[in-house]
Amino acid sequence: MSDRLIDEIEDSIFIIYANKPSSHVYLIKGSNKNILIDTGTKSNFSRIVEALSKISLKVTDIHLVVCTHEHYDHIGGISFFYNHSILAADRFAATKIELQDEYVIHSVYHGEEVEKTKINLWLENLVVFDIGNYKLKVIHTPGHTSGSICLYEMTKQFLFSGDTIFNGGIISKISDSGSYGDYINSLERLSCYKISKIFPGHGKICIDPQNSISESIEKAKTKLTEEVEKIKKERRC
Ligand SMILES: [Zn+2]
Repeated sequence: MSDRLIDEIEDSIFIIYANKPSSHVYLIKGSNKNILIDTGTKSNFSRIVEALSKISLKVTDIHLVVCTHEHYDHIGGISFFYNHSILAADRFAATKIELQDEYVIHSVYHGEEVEKTKINLWLENLVVFDIGNYKLKVIHTPGHTSGSICLYEMTKQFLFSGDTIFNGGIISKISDSGSYGDYINSLERLSCYKISKIFPGHGKICIDPQNSISESIEKAKTKLTEEVEKIKKERRC
């Protein structure tokens, strides 16, 4: 269990440190709307409640929950927010979450089951959330999964990257519904953005975004070549 529960990492932006295997949870306090990015697993919910209480917020103060993608370690707790928050995810993630598509969500690996819920807002590429002090643009970044998105904060140039980019150029696992081709394309599109910091779903905050993205692109291309060669070799046997 992590010692730390919540930190303000930028003005009105908080990280809630979840217990593994949960992803990090980010809270953005807007001028009059609060956004939570990912929830972690179902068993992480009590930690969110406790973290919010440290900054005098309640679960009912969360207006919008945005899921970076459909994996259980990121979305397992969303049903707890259903009655009072708008739940949002990319449309390719929304379909899988609503249908409890275990092929992609992988809740069983975590010993928990995803609760039946509805995604209220099906996101498309380049949709913007304007919460006054921050503006967040949705960037569809398929690859890790088909429904992966990043959120780009347009004034401070922060990127909330889910499992698409990690610190130090660590590349994503390509999961069911994902693809290396899509992943490389997503990274190349992200490399065109001016990014000051990356807030990933796991691991450390990245303060060297350009290098991390470039390294990820090179590693992903190498990995794709290796995978293709492996398939060719297997077919020759
Ligand atoms: Zn994932």
